[in-house]
Amino acid sequence: MPALEDSRLTVDDLIAWLVRFDDRIVEQADHLTELDSAIGDADHGTNMARGTAAVRSRLTDARPDDTGMLLKSCGMTLVSTVGGASGSLYGTLFLEMAKSVGTASELDTTVFAAAFRAGVAGVVARGRAEPGDKTMVDALQPTIEALDTAVAGGVPLADALKTAAAAAAAGRDATIHLVARKGRASYLGDRSADHLDPGATSAAILVQALADTQAERSR
Ligand code: ADP
Ligand code: MG
Repeated sequence: MPALEDSRLTVDDLIAWLVRFDDRIVEQADHLTELDSAIGDADHGTNMARGTAAVRSRLTDARPDDTGMLLKSCGMTLVSTVGGASGSLYGTLFLEMAKSVGTASELDTTVFAAAFRAGVAGVVARGRAEPGDKTMVDALQPTIEALDTAVAGGVPLADALKTAAAAAAAGRDATIHLVARKGRASYLGDRSADHLDPGATSAAILVQALADTQAERSR
């Protein structure tokens, strides 16, 4: 049985998540930019890497006191550094998560799932993309559904996040066949099909980074 604290995300876990996210974005930056060069303007990798590096240094310079402060700081940093469509959308994801968690010092699976749902609702409200429009929402929406199923089944946090990461990856892969209806890629019409969406790819990296952080911790 995992210890109780393994079923909760602490401030340090969230920092470890975002540091790992930065590592993965740096590793995948060229790939993300290549995906964006096919159906966008070839900047998604550089946009994201600029943002995750800024988040990393902000969080490691001064450790936030609670999870809400941490998520808010991350969201504000992403808004001001990423640029592009994805900057305000990723920023909104974290700012809405911050509002949802308030001043909690730790997040259990239920609270985290609710926060992620609020974050994705913010992304949808801002970007007006629905599932199937070939955007980051195609990776984020399945993540919520997987988390909700895990919460309903009383699944431990690490397992919930593992399922969520698999769902995000499947959502990312499904964007290959879609025609973009939002964002720059939509300007291409039918020619946007047969390409992975860059934002869905970075969103799957985000969820996988959290799953990996938590898997390591509960081992
Ligand atoms: P830009 O398109 O401004 O160059 P990026 O290249 O950083 O910004 O990000 C592109 C990604 O942003 C897309 O692959 C898509 O996933 C996401 N995106 C664009 N517009 C929207 C939207 N309206 N709603 C959700 N996601 C969007
Ligand atoms: Mg772009």
